[in-house]
Amino acid sequence: MRLRFAPSPTGALHIGGVRTALYNYLLAKKHGGTFILRIEDTDQTRYVPGAEAYIKEALEWFGLLPDEGPGYGGAHGPYRQSERKERYQEYTAQLVESGHAYYAFDTSDELAAAREKDPNFKYDAGARRQMKNSLSLPEEEVKRLLSEGGGHVIRLKVPENETIVFQDKIRGQVAFDSNELDDKVLLKADGMPTYHLANVVDDRLMEVTHVIRGEEWLSSTAHHVLLYRAFGWEGQMPAFAHLPLILRPDGKGKLSKRDGARFGFPVFPLSWQGETEEDSFTGFREYGFLPEAAINFLALLGWNPGTEQEIFSLEELVEAFSVERINKSGTRFDIDKAKWFNQQYIIKADTDYLLEKVKPVIAAHGYEPGDDFLRGFIELMRERAVTLGEFWENGYFFFEEPRDYDPKMVRKRWDSGRKALFDELAGQLEGLDNFTADSIKARTEAFIQEKGLKFGEVLPMLRLGVAGTMQGPALFEMMELLGRAEVARRLRKAFHQFNELI
Ligand code: GLU
Repeated sequence: MRLRFAPSPTGALHIGGVRTALYNYLLAKKHGGTFILRIEDTDQTRYVPGAEAYIKEALEWFGLLPDEGPGYGGAHGPYRQSERKERYQEYTAQLVESGHAYYAFDTSDELAAAREKDPNFKYDAGARRQMKNSLSLPEEEVKRLLSEGGGHVIRLKVPENETIVFQDKIRGQVAFDSNELDDKVLLKADGMPTYHLANVVDDRLMEVTHVIRGEEWLSSTAHHVLLYRAFGWEGQMPAFAHLPLILRPDGKGKLSKRDGARFGFPVFPLSWQGETEEDSFTGFREYGFLPEAAINFLALLGWNPGTEQEIFSLEELVEAFSVERINKSGTRFDIDKAKWFNQQYIIKADTDYLLEKVKPVIAAHGYEPGDDFLRGFIELMRERAVTLGEFWENGYFFFEEPRDYDPKMVRKRWDSGRKALFDELAGQLEGLDNFTADSIKARTEAFIQEKGLKFGEVLPMLRLGVAGTMQGPALFEMMELLGRAEVARRLRKAFHQFNELI
């Protein structure tokens, strides 16, 4: 089995494209096949520098490594269509020779005039007879025009009155009336192929056996079937599977790249800096997703395992995946579900793996603590972080000491007459033999009893003093990690400030 992901480098790769890549990858790997990356860059006008690098970086981040592709090796290269120009020209010439394609000399003005006359103009069998091409013009005229080299395209000669039928692995039988199809341009005036020609020729030359792609390509498949036929390759036509749409969270239409900004969540794998603000996007990676969680989420965005299981590693997905279980209708993009997956993965991730992911998040705020401290931090915080960014947002006080304290909280719980008592507790904690959560807890509880205090009068003040907020992980564990000197210093400073706040 040979499957390919064939993006056009026209900008950042939308998350739907990643899902397409994933399904191709899964099916290939499930059957011990080959996953190919092919860059479809024949449309020079839409080429965006950096897009190919972005696509590769995204696939690599997700762990969807191509077996063949530009920079990945393989015996069917080159894998960039712009480097395969001669092949397309040879194959189109072959089609002209066999009568399945023809030269068309119409200028853009002439085509525009035809469209002006008939807004539904289609270069089809009827139009073909009226327009300027090698089927309508006398042979001499065709020769002259070709030798003049004034620019011509090559078009596919779509047969009349035929029903083109193919089996789609997801939709079942699909049929198109050939009279509805236009004579697609195969080779442009600049000698570059169009998508249809290059895509079919390459799928054949790269021996692709299965094509999984977005449903927007379904209607093109009719032309592709005709091309396979015209080349005499019908017997080697790949199996087609057209994926359902990814829908907006409200279910109203297709998820677009603008919806990310509109709804405030990522719809791209990695951040992308476009030329304008509107064309720049935050990625899943930068939003704080683990790649495994994003993959798990994407896998279930259009496929279901047929069981209750939700958490799948990439290996488990390879095992469980099948085209038969791809949904027929669109699936809503539910960011809360994506976050839920992320949380599950953060909770069970290997600590050292998380360490590498959390370190840059903390470093971005100017802190570079030692690994042991960070490991302890991760263990205390992982249940409270839905994204990697939340390790900072919910745990910044591990790195910077509180600057202020909620005055309402202080006024409610603090009794200025007790400052000396609290300072005494701080001193006792500082003097502990072992500054561990257990001994801090034991000493604090004993102190509360000895002095006839209540837990509710003491513990919140310790928490507020240490963290500056009432939110946070287990108090005594947090104190142990911060360490004796830091805790003592923070508490003394806090008790002093509490008195001033009252
Ligand atoms: N280059 C097309 C794209 O950008 C490929 C479609 C296909 O897989 O045939 O999606």
